[in-house]
Amino acid sequence: MTTQTPLGATPPAAPTSAPRQADHRARPSSFPRVNGQVHIGGQPLQRLAARVGSTPFYALDRTCLHQHVAGLRARLPAGVLLHYAMKANPMPALVGLMAGWVDGIDVASAGELQVALDAGAAPAHISFAGPGKREAELRQAVAAGVLLNIESEREVPLLAAAQQQLGLPARVAVRVNPPFELKGSGMRMGGGGRPFGVDAERVPALLAEIGRQGLAFEGFHLYAGSQNLNAAALVEAQRACFDLALTLAASAPAPVRSLNVGGGWGVPYFPGEQPLDEAAVIAGLANLAQRAATELPGAALVVELGRYLVAEAGIYVARVLDRKVSRGQVFLVTDGGLHQHLAASGNFGQVFRRNYPVALARDAAAGEALETVSVVGPLCTPLDRLADSVDLPPAQPGDLVVVFQSGAYGASASPQDFLGHPHCAQVLV
Ligand SMILES: *Cc1c(COP(=O)(O)O)cnc(C)c1O
Repeated sequence: MTTQTPLGATPPAAPTSAPRQADHRARPSSFPRVNGQVHIGGQPLQRLAARVGSTPFYALDRTCLHQHVAGLRARLPAGVLLHYAMKANPMPALVGLMAGWVDGIDVASAGELQVALDAGAAPAHISFAGPGKREAELRQAVAAGVLLNIESEREVPLLAAAQQQLGLPARVAVRVNPPFELKGSGMRMGGGGRPFGVDAERVPALLAEIGRQGLAFEGFHLYAGSQNLNAAALVEAQRACFDLALTLAASAPAPVRSLNVGGGWGVPYFPGEQPLDEAAVIAGLANLAQRAATELPGAALVVELGRYLVAEAGIYVARVLDRKVSRGQVFLVTDGGLHQHLAASGNFGQVFRRNYPVALARDAAAGEALETVSVVGPLCTPLDRLADSVDLPPAQPGDLVVVFQSGAYGASASPQDFLGHPHCAQVLV
């Protein structure tokens, strides 16, 4: 763990003995080592690097993705729909694949809406959320025919005007800011004062206005948090969302056809984290689906997942440019870093910096002992760190470093222009 310093600050004094962390390789089964080399999609990473033509790059394994996403969809109970929240990874080719595998795509801007439509997602199965939608975005959503999640009273008259001008129904759901939060989430998005959704206590009045303005009401959207590995907390939040929606449905101008109970299913990124008990969360959903059949007849339940669907199928690959030894500490300086993988650098909402699973793409040579190194990027800031004190085979310039669990919140969630290095590629294998 490293104490954070502001961008550009002097790095903290080197600890005399760096804490040791195991070479923690998540999901090695997805990226097997064959003949001493990490493989993805059946080919050695060195070969893929040559195919891509430059480092760094992100690579996603489409077989791994398909097995994971199709497998989950098949395990979900009848009456529960699976949506992909594409902000986790908006790569157009990936969204195109996902559009064929899930029941819907959730977008959070007109830009994402365009990618989803281009990818072939059916407008009937796209929903659009976000706390600050521009007037033009609201019109675009109505023109496209997608479901708009209303997050503010302000949106109602704008949607009514768009509906009238375009002669098309404004399909809407209400995003509710619940009075509770999802306990143990990496990022909280409900409970207390939030910029997301409309406070539950104000929703009955909003529903009345939606009725008066003649918008096409379809349901509710609740989202209580992200990156949660605690199945019991997720089940409890889903149940609480369902009960709240049931109460609010009494004030709705039309029957509820869609109830989005959010997501927040987490991914184990750090040493010691256990994968989510998916079966327990699905059992909770099965219970709600059964209740919905009688208590909210005609309503589909929706779960919207981002990282859970894509994070583990992706890796980030950077090349070692230099091996520097500073007062006894070894630094592998790579061509990749914070500017392309903000999350792995520990600067995407984390309170403490912890290492993503990082490895060298090749095994140690016979007789080589592991050495403790820090993997850093090329930026002039101490925040540019991909791994702190990990044990790796002795690496040399030219070696490839792999960061696992990198399929979500990668390139699109990183400040790629910071310091003017080239942007990275992203490929499907
Ligand atoms: C960001 C977001 C998601 C996806 O979050 P993950 O943690 O990647 O699953 C889903 N729904 C909403 C409303 C979001 O804002």
